[in-house]
Amino acid sequence: MLKIGITGGIGSGKTTVCRIFETLGVPVFYADTAAKQVMVTDPLLIAGIKQTFGSGSYDESGQLNNKYIAHIVFNDAAELAKLNALVHPATFRAFEEWTKNVPSHTPYILKEAALLFESDSYKMCDQSILVTSPTSDRIQRVMTRDNVTAAQVQSRMDKQFSDEQKAAMAGHTIRNEESVSLILQVLDLHQQFIK
Ligand code: ATP
Repeated sequence: MLKIGITGGIGSGKTTVCRIFETLGVPVFYADTAAKQVMVTDPLLIAGIKQTFGSGSYDESGQLNNKYIAHIVFNDAAELAKLNALVHPATFRAFEEWTKNVPSHTPYILKEAALLFESDSYKMCDQSILVTSPTSDRIQRVMTRDNVTAAQVQSRMDKQFSDEQKAAMAGHTIRNEESVSLILQVLDLHQQFIK
């Protein structure tokens, strides 16, 4: 079973592309969603977060104190790196568990991660796909979806590798733009992966 990482900058449409693969029966692991889940379900990770950032990281009912954590890691690269160093292995454990439930005849699965290349998790995949989209479209889509300003979207973009950096690392690219059919590009890659 091939493990294929899929990524793209904020608002590029990587989740939209994954949904198309899902309609073809391809199992998709959403790493960013899993990362949020393990922070409240993985006992090893919870213990690590409390030890590193203090017991205030969780409230009495075991819910993550998002504001507290965000306040510590926001604009502090060293603290953010500490958090990532705790969360990434736990997310990887969740991914390994998830793959155990994938039917054995499945030719390939996708692992969607916003920071596939930035976090080095692409090294654990057999191949990778980058979803690209014009910057102006990405900004407009995220402004509509998240009700945020263009400047806020831009600041989130600035924390990610550029498309040029990622394209140099990706094995395949899907262009999410008006002039090309998204579905045909997905079908083309699907045919390659099931061979
Ligand atoms: P993020 O990294 O922020 O989670 P993403 O790369 O997963 O974003 P999506 O969530 O797939 O991107 O797309 C962002 C928004 O743009 C969504 O609301 C989605 O429905 C919309 N969108 C994506 N592609 C298109 C398209 N080709 N045409 C119209 N809307 C689109």
